[in-house]
Amino acid sequence: MQIPQKLIDSLQNVNGFDPTTFVEIHETPSPTSIRINPFKSTNQFDNFEHVAWCESGRYLPTRPAFTLDPLFHAGTYYVQEASSMFLEQALKQCLKLEDDLVVLDLCAAPGGKSTHIASLLSTDSLLVSNEVIKPRANVLVENLSKWGLPNTVVTNNDPKDFNRIPHFFDALVIDAPCSGSGLFRKDPNAIAEWSEQNVEMCSLRQKRILTDVWDSLKIGGILVYSTCSYSQSENEDILDWISEEFNVKSLKINTQDGIIQTISAKHQAHGYRFYPDKIKGEGFFLAVFEKGEDDVRNTTTLKYTKPRPNKKLKLETQVFGSWIESLEDYVWLEKNEEYFLINPEQEHNIKLLQANLYLRKAGIRLGKIAGKDLIPDHELALSVVLSE
Ligand code: SAM
Repeated sequence: MQIPQKLIDSLQNVNGFDPTTFVEIHETPSPTSIRINPFKSTNQFDNFEHVAWCESGRYLPTRPAFTLDPLFHAGTYYVQEASSMFLEQALKQCLKLEDDLVVLDLCAAPGGKSTHIASLLSTDSLLVSNEVIKPRANVLVENLSKWGLPNTVVTNNDPKDFNRIPHFFDALVIDAPCSGSGLFRKDPNAIAEWSEQNVEMCSLRQKRILTDVWDSLKIGGILVYSTCSYSQSENEDILDWISEEFNVKSLKINTQDGIIQTISAKHQAHGYRFYPDKIKGEGFFLAVFEKGEDDVRNTTTLKYTKPRPNKKLKLETQVFGSWIESLEDYVWLEKNEEYFLINPEQEHNIKLLQANLYLRKAGIRLGKIAGKDLIPDHELALSVVLSE
């Protein structure tokens, strides 16, 4: 595998970079890893090696044909690169996950981080999983539908649309589009796409995305920023730029062996680097900030009127009752004759999102009512709310 010399040269002084072992490891295959859905029982991975930084992460000794496995399609696990599961440590150490939180995963397709976040949040919390590119948003909907949890909304919006809802989120996860050098071993085709110009273009785009979405984060909320690039201009330099642009505090995370701690040059912000020759996984970078006091630059008032309480109509209650385990714990929304089961604690937030953004789905898509029966959607079959 021919790693671009310009990339190697640019990393010479970067924390943890060892050109010899780095080049050598790219001649070996990537480990295969999966993350188990904690809400769907499976014992097929019980004896496999654990990913050190993720409770439900496992390494598989060989790479099976996942698409031939019914449990893969049933959402009992998600095939995910191990390093990126470190997000779990950021969320566990920097948020109170037992609280009711509203979290935005801004660049979410195909859904690796979103399925992970949804599994870690409390049942009364809400994950807003967004993808700007429409066909990719479809894949996101599909993967979250398979995951089966009702605490998720999928939106298909540009980052700047989120400044319509200032100070709304407790956490922003920005797994930014990047130059992708961290995935060269998994996807050698990415090498041909790599150039210094592309790294710079990605860096500018990362700053634009951060600027566009910043107002939607609450004061005291946290930003998790990550990339799968090794380049400083997409990582530590972005941390310096964030420190200059916004009022933030950089947060530290306790790490496992092999994860390299790094510090940005100007503002000493903390970052975490993953190299395939140091840990069992691919290239990854992650950092966390807490937002301080700020002035919301966009003062547009929220387009939102308080909803009338959702009436639980008798027919609907009867029709859904036989399909849903503990229907009393939920409410539903109707759109174009389709019904979506949501958490009553999040009804207010979901309606606010509906008034300001393009919602692709909210909660669990139940299906349509015909006469006195439900024509169930496939998503209901895959969900964790279906009764025995
Ligand atoms: N978080 C995802 C996961 O764990 O499965 C991977 C996200 S991928 C690194 C970055 C995503 O950002 C892609 O889905 C891409 O379509 C999206 N993206 C590209 N340009 C964007 C932009 N200008 N604003 C927001 N998202 C963008």
